[in-house]
Amino acid sequence: MTEVAPAQLEPMPDDWRRALAVVAHPDDLEYGCSAAVASWTDAGREVTYVLATRGEAGVDTLAPAECGPLREREQRASAAVVGVSTVEFLDHRDGVIEYGTALRRDIAAAVRRHRPELVITLNHRDTWGGTFWNTPDHVAVGRAVLDAAGDAGNRWIFPELTEQGLEPWSGVRWVAVAGSSSPTHAVDATDGLDRAVRSLLEHRAYIEALTDQDPEEYVRGFLTGNARETGKRFGDRPAVSFELFSR
Ligand SMILES: [Zn+2]
Repeated sequence: MTEVAPAQLEPMPDDWRRALAVVAHPDDLEYGCSAAVASWTDAGREVTYVLATRGEAGVDTLAPAECGPLREREQRASAAVVGVSTVEFLDHRDGVIEYGTALRRDIAAAVRRHRPELVITLNHRDTWGGTFWNTPDHVAVGRAVLDAAGDAGNRWIFPELTEQGLEPWSGVRWVAVAGSSSPTHAVDATDGLDRAVRSLLEHRAYIEALTDQDPEEYVRGFLTGNARETGKRFGDRPAVSFELFSR
């Protein structure tokens, strides 16, 4: 029996200047797609990070009041490794982010502030594929990002934003979802993978609490394995995949 080759992923669009990545937690982008971010900033594109929480509920042995500021510092260092200098936090509560108009408004405001053509988020679907259940925060933020990309362009949905001087921005052309189990597009991770490893390693407190494995071995193994697996659908180059929604 001959094996059927998996359907190939399309290259991500590259005719854009500004991207905005909006995710729930510190480390979501580093697990999801920072090799792609490194290659984009290398090419002179501007990428900004917005996080719904400070990940303050992410480490069992650290109380939120201590954990939040620590993870914020780790996230800023991690972003810097892949050429991202602007990192903002929306101050929703880690673990119990609610999908709804408050979240959509905060994300729409970020889209209006930064005026991106490409918006990135993390898997908004119920699972990571198969029976690996996703977390409610990722689902809430991912869905709200897909919705807020449209809200940002409508003057009348959140009129209070216009009153604050944030004019509508209808320039979002795509929302790209990292970590989706139904990817459509990919970015070559050959040049960005080493920095992606260093970027994820900046989340040291979180990783040390997560695994007994040597942090570098764990991080390199995870990201390289994912990139190789994705590469099977992208000409056998290490790659990062996205599910791309055009607007
Ligand atoms: Zn997360």
